Order: sequence, then C-alpha cells, then structure tokens
Amino acid sequence: MKTVWITGAGRGIGAACARRFAAEGWQVALGWCTQKEKTEALAAELNAAAPHTALAVHTDVTDAAGVRAAAAAIEREFGGIGCLVNNAGIAKQQLFTDVTEADWDGMFAVNCKGMYRIAQAVLPGMLHRKSGSIVNISSIWGVVGASCEVPYSAAKGAVITFTQALAKELGPSGIRVNCVAPGVIETDMMAAFSAEDKALLADETPLCRIGRPEDVAAAVVFLAGDDASFITGQTLGVDGGFGR
Ligand code: NAP
Repeated sequence: MKTVWITGAGRGIGAACARRFAAEGWQVALGWCTQKEKTEALAAELNAAAPHTALAVHTDVTDAAGVRAAAAAIEREFGGIGCLVNNAGIAKQQLFTDVTEADWDGMFAVNCKGMYRIAQAVLPGMLHRKSGSIVNISSIWGVVGASCEVPYSAAKGAVITFTQALAKELGPSGIRVNCVAPGVIETDMMAAFSAEDKALLADETPLCRIGRPEDVAAAVVFLAGDDASFITGQTLGVDGGFGR
C-alpha cells in the first residue's frame, strides 16, 4: 500500500486531499499544526471506512526536530513514505509598506522553508527506494502576483522554482516533483472575504465560480500517482481560469 504524508491535513485543501487519497487506496499521514482534534476526527473517519488507513501526526513545518520525529513515526506505522504533499500554508492581506520583517520571515518560514524541511525528512527513504513523488501547493498569486499579498506571492513564486529545480535534481533518482497552483478556493483561508467579495471573485473567474477543495485534491492525487509517471517539474493551475 502506498503512503502519503500531507501537511495541514485537518481542514481545507489538505483535508480534501486526505479523503481523496484514502478513497484511492493510499495510507494517509495527516499532519496537523493547531487542529489536533479536527485532524484526529478525520483520521477516525477514514479508519472507520478502511481500517489502518490514516494516522494524525503533529507536524509543525517550522519545527525541524518535530518534522524529523513525525517522519520517523509515520515510517514506523506505515513503512516508507511514497508521496509528500506540501500543503501547509498561511496568508495575510496587508499593504507592502506595513509588512514587518516578522511578517516576511513568518510567511517564508511556513509557505516556503517548511517545504525544504519536510522534503529533506522524506528524501532519504525515497532516494533509497529510487521512487516517490512530491506535490507542492503554490497559488495563482505565485504565478502572477497579488496586490496587498506581496510576501505571500513571493513565497508561493519561490515554491514554483523550488519545484522545478528539485524535479531536475531528483528525476534521475526516480522521484517526481510537481506543483499545483490553486485560484480562489472556498476554505478558512478565505474567511477574511465577505460574501460580496467572493461573488465578485466568482464573476472574475471564467468558469464563473469559486473553487472547491475537492477540485484541488483531484489534481494533487493525479500528480502524485502513476497516471502522472512522465510528468515532473510542472505547475498545474486549478483556478477556473482566474487571474491569468
Ligand atoms: P486553510 O484552511 O487555512 O488551511 C491551512 C493549513 O495549513 C491548515 O491545515 C494548517 O494546519 C496548516 N498550517 C498552517 N501553519 C502551519 C505550520 N506552521 N505547520 C504545519 N501546518 C500549518 O487553507 P487552505 O486554503 O486549505 O490552504 C492550503 C494550501 O493551499 C496553502 O498552502 C494555501 O496557501 C494554498 N492555497 C489556498 C488558496 C485558497 O484560495 N484557499 C488558494 C491558493 C493556494 P492546522 O489546521 O493544524 O493549523
């Protein structure tokens, strides 16, 4: 059975990915940072449907020792990690002139450096087995940039080139690295937006709606698995045409 480790798996896009991977027969390690109960409830739901499918694991991507301990716990429970989904992320809307050094560093620590940290924890096993895949979650703002989200856009842009560079380095070892760049997706990350704002965003989207977490999960699971076995270094937009 294949095992996937998803960071930020207790809610939003990460939770939709967890459900979709489990439905497709993967064992799923559900990383949580603050949402322990919610993530454990999701693990229980998945285990009720298919025993020994899911494990909730504390994974704060800013904590190097914790990340290594989480990787070891997952390997003990499920064996080798075949896929990593670097989904954990934070966002903040603010004028660039208000951005403090702490804002900047915090945005990069979670959205960008966290990916480096987790990838380093899973790669020894993948390199040993000469197989594996990594799917990183960027954003449409990492492709085109967003006003009032400069640190977020910069960090998500870095995720795309991180993906491209790592894909080149790891391809000869049989490991694929790809990226998904969602548009506007209805999750807690959109909590700061009013219903009116969301209606305007839907109007600006060629497919005339805001995305669902499940829309992103479908792309992630595709890139993770064997159907994408000749695809690496790519960024797949899941955005209904928004922002392009
Ligand atoms: P969300 O519901 O706010 O979920 C964010 C997730 O990130 C949570 O599960 C959270 O874990 C986790 N997280 C935050 N800080 C963390 C840390 N230090 N270590 C580990 N996990 C951490 O948002 P979402 O929309 O599902 O976002 C998922 C990904 O999609 C993010 O990378 C986001 O940037 C990207 N994205 C979202 C949209 C959108 O419109 N929603 C668009 C483009 C890209 P806990 O719940 O345990 O705290």
